[in-house]
Amino acid sequence: MDSQGFREAAITSIDEIINYFDTLPTRDVVSQVEPGYLRKLLPTQAPTEGEPWPSIQKDIESKIMPGITHWSHPGFHAFFPCATSYPSILGELYSSALSGACFNWICSPAVTELETIVLDWLAKALGLPQCYLSTGPTLGGGVIQGSASEAVLTAMVAAREKYLTETIPSDLTDDARDDAIALKRAKMVALATTATHSSTKKAALILGVRFITIPVTHETNYSLTAPILSQALASCRERGLEPFFLTATLGTTDTCSVDDFAGISSALSTHSNPPNTPGEVWVHVDAAYAGAALVCPSVQESTKINLIETFHSFDMNMHKWLLTNFDASCLYVRNREWFVRALTINQAVYANEASDNGLVTDYREWQIPLGRRFRSLKIWFVLRSYGIKGLQEYIERTTRIGQEFGEWIREKREMFEVLTGPSFALTVFRMVGKDEEERNERTRRLAEKINSSAKIWVTSTVLDGRYAIRFMTGVRKTEREDVERAFGIVVEKAEEVLRGEER
Ligand code: PLP
Repeated sequence: MDSQGFREAAITSIDEIINYFDTLPTRDVVSQVEPGYLRKLLPTQAPTEGEPWPSIQKDIESKIMPGITHWSHPGFHAFFPCATSYPSILGELYSSALSGACFNWICSPAVTELETIVLDWLAKALGLPQCYLSTGPTLGGGVIQGSASEAVLTAMVAAREKYLTETIPSDLTDDARDDAIALKRAKMVALATTATHSSTKKAALILGVRFITIPVTHETNYSLTAPILSQALASCRERGLEPFFLTATLGTTDTCSVDDFAGISSALSTHSNPPNTPGEVWVHVDAAYAGAALVCPSVQESTKINLIETFHSFDMNMHKWLLTNFDASCLYVRNREWFVRALTINQAVYANEASDNGLVTDYREWQIPLGRRFRSLKIWFVLRSYGIKGLQEYIERTTRIGQEFGEWIREKREMFEVLTGPSFALTVFRMVGKDEEERNERTRRLAEKINSSAKIWVTSTVLDGRYAIRFMTGVRKTEREDVERAFGIVVEKAEEVLRGEER
């Protein structure tokens, strides 16, 4: 494809993408294809001769679109949103044109420097404490990761290294140190709650450290509180285990609950090595989805985000609820040396003057992979195109319609019961019934009926043995009338469930 061919292909592709967004409501939300559908439609090997763009492009609509579930559809109420927007798409376009494996500053200084700057902008917009800024008092800073799962793994690697360095005497011989590390590792434990996303468990699994789940229930609205954490820490101590890592969540996956940051600090001060002393427990805040809402000052206040000052790392996904397409997980650390010490492996081929003189940030030392894309460009475009005000309006609008949905569900008390929320544009509810079994069965059938309509998509979950439906309103294209229509579908399908019982 030459320059003119690219110009023509790009124009028709951009037109098709605009048309896709403009006509999205006319499509089914969830793909209706059977497993293996695509193999039947595509040749068994790549073409020997290159094909012209028009014949490639037409396959998007005929072969790919049937297998797409539309995450930007106004009827998408499942999981959490996976955002995109035109400024973000433009960022990706430039990023793919400027493609490079920008692991060191010298590999493209703008890639590193823009990342540092926009992550500082974002930290300020989210109201994070100063210590998470690259210019802050503790030499912290942010780095873009591919996902919240990569972020928690990166944080756990750094936490493990920090804990070992602080708790193993520095004057041992190499062999004695290796033995001490092996003994210590057998006792080290990462903690999370039953409401924490599974990525923390996966990180512990990958690192080969023990993992203990702390039970949280509806009694604390699925939040980790001081008494619950204190008990878990005491129980670890009794077993001779050494907690070194804890994930605290701002917006849990099932219910969007927020852990009690003040309570966590106080429990850690009393029942483990106090914050800022050797052998302290590293606290990672997973705000993958709800962290986006921190652009609103009222949410900064209600979640008490200022209290994470004594914690160690914080992560939120702009690619969930902040209009930036996958992937853009923004990970912050209070002291960047913790990442650099854990993740720097030098190899002659990567040496250069700027790095060797310690003048620059090399983001390969803050992450697991070596190469990295120019992801800050799309964040820069989104922050500049919408402005903080535009982002606040979007979060407030989608939160407001979520609240309305929750109220409508609550008002229909002869049919439904709200289990949690509305919280951060998420309501979790179920059908009422004479006993737990009937409520579970009705709710399970309701979820099935709603999703088989293909007009809207919801996800179900199980909370303390209670089958429930999660309904999320955070998608950019979702308006109040879409939610009103969705509520109509939910009621209609619930009536069908009840009618089905009469037969
Ligand atoms: N943390 C929370 C609270 C989540 O809800 C999710 C996914 O929804 C994740 C982590 C994992 O996100 P990612 O796909 O970016 O790894």
